[in-house]
Amino acid sequence: MDLDDTPQQAQYRLTVRAWLEQHRSEAPVLTGPDAIHDEHEIIAARRRWQGRLAEGGLAGVTWPEEYGGQGLGPIEQVICNQEISRAKVPGILDVIGVGMLGPTIIAHGSDEQKRRYLGPMLHGDEVWCQLFSEPAAGSDLAAVQTRAKQLDDSSWTITGQKVWTTNAQFASYGLLLARTDGSVPKHNGLTMFIVPMDAPGVTVRGLRQISGEAEFNEVFFDDVHLEADAHVGALGSGWGTALTTLMFERITLGLGGEGLGYDPLRFARAIGAHDSARRDPEVRQRLGDILAELTAVRFSGYRMLTELQRGQIPGPEAGLAKVTTVNNGLAGGDLIADVLGPDALASDSEWTYMISFIPGLKSAGGTEEILRNTIGERVLGLPPEPRLDKGIPFEELRTKETAKV
Ligand SMILES: Cc1cc2nc3c(=O)[nH]c(=O)nc-3n(C[C@H](O)[C@H](O)[C@H](O)COP(=O)(O)OP(=O)(O)OC[C@H]3O[C@@H](n4cnc5c(N)ncnc54)[C@H](O)[C@@H]3O)c2cc1C
Repeated sequence: MDLDDTPQQAQYRLTVRAWLEQHRSEAPVLTGPDAIHDEHEIIAARRRWQGRLAEGGLAGVTWPEEYGGQGLGPIEQVICNQEISRAKVPGILDVIGVGMLGPTIIAHGSDEQKRRYLGPMLHGDEVWCQLFSEPAAGSDLAAVQTRAKQLDDSSWTITGQKVWTTNAQFASYGLLLARTDGSVPKHNGLTMFIVPMDAPGVTVRGLRQISGEAEFNEVFFDDVHLEADAHVGALGSGWGTALTTLMFERITLGLGGEGLGYDPLRFARAIGAHDSARRDPEVRQRLGDILAELTAVRFSGYRMLTELQRGQIPGPEAGLAKVTTVNNGLAGGDLIADVLGPDALASDSEWTYMISFIPGLKSAGGTEEILRNTIGERVLGLPPEPRLDKGIPFEELRTKETAKV
């Protein structure tokens, strides 16, 4: 592919750049001496800024115009991400909602759901969370045990527990994967629901991470009542709906961040500031390895973009970009820690957060082992893993839950 902007893309880049120049003073300041520190203030400021980005057409770039988006392609989305990063202003707060859950509702939701939820989501008025993972259903997501039971009047009650739910502490709504039928094999008895996070019976408990932040939560559902029309897509179609979200997750993670993956020059600049490290052949070798791999990720990202631009869905090999990015982020963190010594972990160091947060990304969006299994089976054509539960009704499986009984 031609890696230069076409004349239209160059024009689009200029328009985005001009908007950001004009409005950057409204962006929340999150680093440096004037940074806001209070968590509530940060969230409020980032929601307002998301609203401004949406008004300026810099959020939901690929969403259809009828739902407030720009109806543009993935290349324009990347141009927008690159310009936001260039302007050194934060992007949208609700990446999970706008990048993954909104597109899922656009693909599977009813007209009423699209009308009601998409606008406030895009503008940051209502933040969303992804209620998929459970204590015994992460890599094996189809093993979810949260139950949705339909009552005589067709409304629902939800009972169960989710975990690792990013942003649940301030989300207005969640997209929840629940089991509606235990008498069929595990992938067939699932349905997706929209849950108001302030509904009676929903309890959100924060999990504090080593980085000091508390972005994740456990979420408990005790007989939470939902209206009859709260499900997204047909009953029993939840696995297909979840796969749509996971596909958008792959694309959002692959194309997000600093344009495409980490900016390797950040590591180079930090090392360049240290005279002895700059000359050390071992440091240079390690940095060279990281730069080479992150450059390969960037070009794999361009390949994924080309596929998207042609209307194709990127294949499972896109998962390798995540594995490579995370492993090189870790290697970069180790290198910086070796060069800077304990200073790398000082409270005002720009690296503390990165070094303590990146290990968690080995699990987020699919673990490295699972992504490698997928590549082995679906790209290299290696024999599949044994699947002992295939075709067996879910309620006959010996899960952690049934083992207790
Ligand atoms: C930063 C972050 C944000 C997240 N945000 C959300 C969110 O908003 N919503 C949400 O629903 N979830 C979220 N998650 C959860 C994430 O999806 C899960 O962590 C992930 O799916 C792995 O599940 P698990 O943690 O239960 O690990 P497990 O599935 O229990 O895996 C434990 C270990 O066993 C290995 N393993 C498991 N099965 C196999 C196998 N078949 N072959 C080889 N190895 C295997 C795994 O690779 C891993 O090393 C988030 C996680 C992180 C770290």
